Amino acid sequence: MLRVIAIDGPAASGKSSTAGRVAEQLGWAHLDSGALYRALTLAALDNIGEGGRGTGEGWSGQRIVSLADELPVRLVLVGEVFRAEVAGVDVGEAIRSERVTRHVSVIAAIPEVRTWANAQQRRAVEGGGGVGGVVVDGRDIGTVVFPEAPLKIFLTATPDERARRRLSQRGEAVDGDLVQRESQALAARDAADSTRRIAPLKPAADAVLLDTTALTLEQQVSRVVELARGLFPG
Ligand code: C5P
Repeated sequence: MLRVIAIDGPAASGKSSTAGRVAEQLGWAHLDSGALYRALTLAALDNIGEGGRGTGEGWSGQRIVSLADELPVRLVLVGEVFRAEVAGVDVGEAIRSERVTRHVSVIAAIPEVRTWANAQQRRAVEGGGGVGGVVVDGRDIGTVVFPEAPLKIFLTATPDERARRRLSQRGEAVDGDLVQRESQALAARDAADSTRRIAPLKPAADAVLLDTTALTLEQQVSRVVELARGLFPG
């Protein structure tokens, strides 16, 4: 049995925080696949630039994949967390910039890039490093990357609640105008991720849907851990 828990959902639905804590409680590793797409985006922006119209629309999949192999862009298991590295440097902070966030959906819609990223994720899980299993979070983990995962969770929350969480995570004021602006930015990224031709954001047919709008992080973590304990022996 593949010891993978797939957690998918829209931007700022709490996937990575939930996945990280579930992994901690189970003694498993955590892989945030968004960090890999973000690291690829950072590498493309720094080495290729934003292209003619500044949108990255002209980025070629082949060029990005060669760059990713050369630099390289990698997932490295540090303790029980897969970290994204570019050219041997941990980019955990740099990939959270607004510039990377603005461009990442364009990179993530390129077919060659997704094939490359899927292979990295599968390789990382195979070489899992002797841990009990891996909790992987993203947009297409249950549908495309690990469709055979025995436990698939799809997290949702209203756009306004997600915007409030994102603002407070960044230490910004949670006021009406800011919530509205953030909520629109999240909705735009979700629309791009849900309507792309390849691996669009959507729940797997056998995913457990978890609306977290009215749940605390602890509550959503407990719910997933409970399901995992019922499914995975030992
Ligand atoms: O999860 P996070 O918001 O960091 O993901 C950044 C972007 O990476 C998403 O908006 C999406 O475009 C892309 N992504 C993806 N497939 C995944 C994980 C992330 O397309 N499995």
